[in-house]
Amino acid sequence: QAQTSHFFMDRNTARSLLRRRSKFDHKGNFGHALLVAGSLGKMGAAVLSARATLRSGVGLLTVHTPQAGISIVQTAVPEAMLSIDGHASVFAGAVQPERYTTIGIGPGLGKAPETVKAFHKLLENFPHPMVIDADALNILGENRELLHLVPKGSILTPHPKEFERLVGPWQNDFERLEKQKGLAAQLQSVVVLKGAFTSIAAPDGKTFFNPTGNPGMATGGSGDVLTGILTGLLAQRYDTLEGALLGVYLHGFAGDLGAWEKGMDSLIASDIVEFLSGAFARLG
Ligand code: AMP
Ligand code: MG
Repeated sequence: QAQTSHFFMDRNTARSLLRRRSKFDHKGNFGHALLVAGSLGKMGAAVLSARATLRSGVGLLTVHTPQAGISIVQTAVPEAMLSIDGHASVFAGAVQPERYTTIGIGPGLGKAPETVKAFHKLLENFPHPMVIDADALNILGENRELLHLVPKGSILTPHPKEFERLVGPWQNDFERLEKQKGLAAQLQSVVVLKGAFTSIAAPDGKTFFNPTGNPGMATGGSGDVLTGILTGLLAQRYDTLEGALLGVYLHGFAGDLGAWEKGMDSLIASDIVEFLSGAFARLG
């Protein structure tokens, strides 16, 4: 009965999860991701996750943006296409779900009533695993009746505050871990609880602890970069758990390479994106 259920991620495991490209691959083999992110004054979150998605090997990327974000995203991320919302400043409209292999949603989104409605509709219409972060998690925390609509095989990436809004307070780390496993089982999805030694809980109760990353990453936008990486990997049809383990490892590894070069105090989220290439290259 006493089966091992806790594991420590390491470099060899991460390396074994990374897929290699073959000579005849084309962009159709690497999926089409949609990022639903950003609102007036928070378009930087969308830009950071979009750049990270592209640096993680996706075939095609579309960013769904309100009017306020059009020239920002087109200028900052020329590789991305746009899906343009009718609303001036927030996510409020519909997306065409059949076009995408996965959707990453949440960074910089805000919680306007229109956004809550639009997220509800998107959950009802999108059948594939999603990456759910930031304000999309906060919306779920405040509207728990929506939780059952989360597609199975999704990845949720709360930091501790977002996690508390989803599951309520805990007394100690053990209780927190039980709540994390409980949520993963309930949603049949992977729950990534972020921090030093980010823990990754699978629906079957297995939990993994990630060793990469450093306190230099405690800076605005770091989590948005992780959302982008995971969205890029799921778009390529990585298995949910394997994608989560690999993505969290690479995100921390890129942060470590960045801190080594620039120093922890000076590290910013854009540096994590910049050093993602080094992380992929060294792992492969
Ligand atoms: P967020 O709070 O959404 O911006 O996410 C912060 C990201 O930075 C998460 O992926 C954390 O795991 C990472 N991070 C923050 N602080 C640390 C730390 N002290 N050690 C390792 N990773 C960290
Ligand atoms: Mg965040």
